[in-house]
Amino acid sequence: MDEKLRRLIDCIFDAHLDAIIDCETCGSQFYCLAEMVAGGADPVQLLPAVEDHLACCPDCREEYEAILAIIRAENQGLTTS
Ligand SMILES: [Zn+2]
Repeated sequence: MDEKLRRLIDCIFDAHLDAIIDCETCGSQFYCLAEMVAGGADPVQLLPAVEDHLACCPDCREEYEAILAIIRAENQGLTTS
């Protein structure tokens, strides 16, 4: 596991995974989740609370998808350089 992924997982373990989360909490976890998904991780295993929220909140889902698309684009840019 590389250092970047490890750091992201550390940041996620600070979150209260068992709690029902609101949009604000979800938003604070977007970036971590998107980074890990872009790296090939399974969001259901890593951040089930956020994944649950995304499944029932179209607003957050839209924002998350946008962030994920940006990160994927950035990653592609990095790997080709
Ligand atoms: Zn939401």
